[in-house]
Amino acid sequence: MVTDCLFCRIVAGELPCNEVLSTPNTLAFRDINPAMPTHVLVIPKIHVPDAAQLGGEHGPMLAEMLRTAHQVAEQEDLAERGYRLVFNVGADSGNTIGHLHLHVLGGRAMGWPPG
Ligand code: AMP
Ligand code: ZN
Repeated sequence: MVTDCLFCRIVAGELPCNEVLSTPNTLAFRDINPAMPTHVLVIPKIHVPDAAQLGGEHGPMLAEMLRTAHQVAEQEDLAERGYRLVFNVGADSGNTIGHLHLHVLGGRAMGWPPG
């Protein structure tokens, strides 16, 4: 755990979250400032700064994050209609939190490419 990391503190139970799902190595909770009708964040319970810092050793954890995201989509009735998964990396993406998180976005049709 990184003590000054917001999401590590959520994992540790020191800060609240609106939990959607917990698995052995991942946690899913609602984004505090939703950009879509459904906006859930899936995070690893260990601290990884961002997707650029992932190595081969993180493979099983990353697969678990993707499975959790799909479970969230099923729970939120998005699995049939579709959804979007986003990792923001670096300044141009708008990344603000330095703990890996996968955005699960859905509930309305989205254009492509994003703005
Ligand atoms: P990113 O721009 O990819 O770093 O996304 C960070 C996301 O975390 C944003 O969509 C924020 O609204 C969200 N966020 C920040 N603090 C919290 C929190 N305490 N609980 C839930 N979501 C949060
Ligand atoms: Zn962290």
